[in-house]
Amino acid sequence: MTEPFLTLDRLTKRFLTGGGLMKKPHSMTAVRDVTLSIGKGEMVGVVGESGCGKSTLARLVLRLIEPTSGRVRLDGTDLTTLSAPALRAARRRMAMVFQDPYSSLDPRYSIADVLKEPFVVQRQAMPAGTVGAMLEAVGLPAATAQHYPHQLSGGQRQRIGIARALALRPDLVVLDEPTASLDVSIQAQIIDLISSLRERFGLTYLFISHDLALVRYVCDRIVVMYLGAVCEVLADPRAAPRHPYTAALLASSFSPDPAARREIAPLSGEIPSPFNLPPGCAFAGRCPHASDRCRSENPTLSTDAGGHAVACFHPL
Ligand code: SF4
Repeated sequence: MTEPFLTLDRLTKRFLTGGGLMKKPHSMTAVRDVTLSIGKGEMVGVVGESGCGKSTLARLVLRLIEPTSGRVRLDGTDLTTLSAPALRAARRRMAMVFQDPYSSLDPRYSIADVLKEPFVVQRQAMPAGTVGAMLEAVGLPAATAQHYPHQLSGGQRQRIGIARALALRPDLVVLDEPTASLDVSIQAQIIDLISSLRERFGLTYLFISHDLALVRYVCDRIVVMYLGAVCEVLADPRAAPRHPYTAALLASSFSPDPAARREIAPLSGEIPSPFNLPPGCAFAGRCPHASDRCRSENPTLSTDAGGHAVACFHPL
């Protein structure tokens, strides 16, 4: 990894739900003590099942939600302490591509207006030729500017979502399941586009996905999350997993080729309630290797000389 560009330091987010006159509120920790550094130009994947906290992590990175504790630093600037105007300025350097290209584009706006939107939000004049340049960058003809979202296919809409994210020329892009709602044949094209844009614009990517096979195929490093915490970091994305949860995720996936993938099958066993986590390792109830120690002590991340980190008492 090069010099850290994005640094997460013990990032934690707790949500309170319920409460009222007669009820006690419940606390749920969606992200727990996540520490991570990403180098400039790196593409780091964050994977896990639905509800593991990866999307909450993405929103914390961009400070779309406030952390309960911990820090996010971008190129040395602590985003968690910035005032509203300073945060708006810092956001020019960050962008997000959303999962669902259908709901992330306002149907009343033409594509030209969609691509102007980031400049309006930033109260910044849009340089001449930006719309055409961004359409060219994502492989769409200039005439697309006059169209409306309903006139485009799912893949074309996601290309517009990517063009909008890149309009202000950010340094960091958070990709939140950018291909999950697309047909398999289109997914491969969008992944190729994302990879080529990284080279062209020198982007740093945080790639959020439920799909370990896909992330192994495109990312430089992989962070695996389970119930809000990091359980493994693969410095080499194609290295054999050492955490039983990562191994089960990989065994459930089908192929490293996104054009030939199937949906990841759910792991067996019940995920514990995040409102009432059992003592010890959160994966113990589903783990074929669980021991008495696993059910009473919480494993912490231990990193080897090659940067491969695993939180497990009996790694594979
Ligand atoms: S600590 Fe124990 S229960 Fe948890 S993953 Fe490792 S072997 Fe399984």
